[in-house]
Amino acid sequence: MDAISPAEKVEIRVRGRVQGVGFRPFVWTCAKKLDLAGEVFNDAEGVLIRVAGSRDSIAELRRRLQHEAPPLAHVETVESHPFSGDLPPDFRIVASREGRVGTQISPDAKICDACIADISDPSNRRFRYPFTTCTHCGPRFSIVSSVPYDRCNTTMARFGLCVECAAEYGDPADRRFHAQPIACPACGPRAKIVRLDGKSIIPALGPHSALDDVDAASHLIRQGEIVAIKGLGGYHIACDATNAASVARLRQGKRRDGKPLAMMARDLDVIRRYALLGEAESALLASIEAPIVILPARGEALPEAIAPGLKEIGFMLPTTPLHHLIMAPIDFPVVMTSGNLSHEPQLIDDAPALAKLKHIAAFALVHDRAIANRIDDSVARPMDGKIRLLRRARGYAPAPMPLPPGFADAPEILAFGAELKSTFCLVKHGEAILSQHQGDLKNSETYEDYCKNLSLYTSMFQHAPAAFAVDRHSDYLSSKLGAQLAHERDAPLIEIQHHHAHVAACLAENLRPLTAPKVLGIVLDGLGLGEENQIWGGEFLLADYLGSERLATFRPVAMLGGDRASREPWRNLYAHLAASRNFTQWRRDFGALPLLDALDAKPRATLDSMLKSGLNAPLASSCGRLFDAMAAALGLGWEAQSYEGEAAMKLEAVVDAEALRDDEAYPMAISSCANLPTIEPLPLWNAVLDDLRRQTPPGHMAARFHQGLAKVIVEMTLQLARRAHESGPRFDTVALSGGCFQNRILFEGVAQKLRAENFTVLAHGKVPANDGGLSLGQATIAAASLLNAT
Ligand SMILES: [Zn+2]
Ligand SMILES: [Zn+2]
Repeated sequence: MDAISPAEKVEIRVRGRVQGVGFRPFVWTCAKKLDLAGEVFNDAEGVLIRVAGSRDSIAELRRRLQHEAPPLAHVETVESHPFSGDLPPDFRIVASREGRVGTQISPDAKICDACIADISDPSNRRFRYPFTTCTHCGPRFSIVSSVPYDRCNTTMARFGLCVECAAEYGDPADRRFHAQPIACPACGPRAKIVRLDGKSIIPALGPHSALDDVDAASHLIRQGEIVAIKGLGGYHIACDATNAASVARLRQGKRRDGKPLAMMARDLDVIRRYALLGEAESALLASIEAPIVILPARGEALPEAIAPGLKEIGFMLPTTPLHHLIMAPIDFPVVMTSGNLSHEPQLIDDAPALAKLKHIAAFALVHDRAIANRIDDSVARPMDGKIRLLRRARGYAPAPMPLPPGFADAPEILAFGAELKSTFCLVKHGEAILSQHQGDLKNSETYEDYCKNLSLYTSMFQHAPAAFAVDRHSDYLSSKLGAQLAHERDAPLIEIQHHHAHVAACLAENLRPLTAPKVLGIVLDGLGLGEENQIWGGEFLLADYLGSERLATFRPVAMLGGDRASREPWRNLYAHLAASRNFTQWRRDFGALPLLDALDAKPRATLDSMLKSGLNAPLASSCGRLFDAMAAALGLGWEAQSYEGEAAMKLEAVVDAEALRDDEAYPMAISSCANLPTIEPLPLWNAVLDDLRRQTPPGHMAARFHQGLAKVIVEMTLQLARRAHESGPRFDTVALSGGCFQNRILFEGVAQKLRAENFTVLAHGKVPANDGGLSLGQATIAAASLLNAT
């Protein structure tokens, strides 16, 4: 219509994570370049921009807002409307409007390339400065003690800005404009290397002359020493991962019997020497979130003690300038495991940390920036063509996740999660805010931390829950706390069945709409409280957010010794064998098998009387315990597991991939138990003992087990689908959840077979399949029931 763009005035509303991430200076820079006049400011809804200029320039500004936003920003919507008020003659960043501003806090982000360039440049005033940061990177959530997100509410409050930093902080054209954790060697925190036995550090360094304290830590690691390092969200313990003696000492000190140790490498090239690295894995390692990624080991060998009995190893890249400076001169992997004793949370406070860690590490690299919030490293694993989070913490929390269509008007809800891999979840404004992984609440320090985080999140997100959601298992500490808070605030308490919550978590992260038809949820995990006080753990549920109906299960087998069965795999094997025939009959059929001798050496009379009376031997339809039983049959983790899931992980690790064939699958039956179709493992045990008698290689047996399990799960699904076809309601979508689906071979086997049968398969990726995702499911179920009631 017209060649010359007329001047226009427009108001642009930007929503999403746009505060505290350098968004206003980005707008300012764009506006200056595009010759636009106007203003930009933060308000309660995000960022508001008012501009005057040519139509083309305004269109270009809108395009850049959508496509060129700063790295930590997450733009959800950009809307514009005509504007008729007055505007300044140039473009300005003006002070925030309204009180409720800056409540969104970004997750901690990996150091950016520009900051790496600063610390690598001898002429830069931040050369080798380990706390270098800018608007595009660095600590966020881990340093926040209250809201709004201003320096005075972070652990940087005690460091006053020097003149130069203050100038950068105040200059919209600077990368550090309004970067709250900004610091430099003149005014910011300092790192210091100390010897944990109190002696002088100098002789330990030998003939080397370290550039500074960080370089000294790097030297010590290269010399084979174990060094505790105060990182971003907690202490790590580091040593040369290729030095078997150092790794063995670290393991001994940590009392961490068998849990795999995570490693850090300075770059992808180092990782490639030890692990199979695809494009997606490389991209995730190098992302802002920078989690630990579990990769298949290959190439140069590492000491067995890095990941005993496993064929995969976990790597991350340096995430902070401190890590970057330590790692830069090191061309081999370094163990970077969380600084704690087994079963305790990662340490964050200096005095208790150093008192405990001196039993593991001889040296510590400490600094004087306090850690406000403990946050563990996140862990991801490639499975079924996608990289899936196994632990969601640093880099991800507390970023909100969208809830599916239909949940926009959900009231504010607080869901308390499970107990062992606990998280909690807030619902607000149609979003779910899932806390970072917190760990086992039975550990008193973890529980304290969980409570502290609850109050931090509540104030950070100005959250006033209208209802509280807990697991139906009232003995969980999280359920008790939820019930207590609901009582104190006179708010409804919604108790949610464990496996229903798993299915809902899977639906929610896949954005399955509130009103979508029911799916078949297959939930395979350790234990969860089912109906009528039964223990469940291998369930087929027809479910949506509003309800679930149990269609099928696994045959319930006794947990001999109650909780001890979860720790001692042989107990599950004994119970599984005893579920079909007594020990004498097994002896008669299979004779002097070493496996039967080993079981015979156990107190069988006591075990048999427990089985008979049911005393301290509750029945559980648990898939996790079936894995334990199978692992025990191969002698893996026979006596006791040193960490949760160890036996099952080792069973997966020994699988001979060549033997993963349907015609090799162990047989499992489908029978009926209490009127429910039930997966019956009896034929499996006959075949397993037969294979043992023939001395079949364990890799074949493990493969036959995984294949058999995947096959029978899909057969069960087809049976249920046929029945649903006759008598409804039908389903065409299957949701897979529960910790057993963190087993790659089982997960890929089931998912691929289901897709081959034309089912749509939903699975976890952004939240863990294990109990770490449970609070998201609880929150959406509670929201659905409240929305349905209104
Ligand atoms: Zn930066
Ligand atoms: Zn400074």
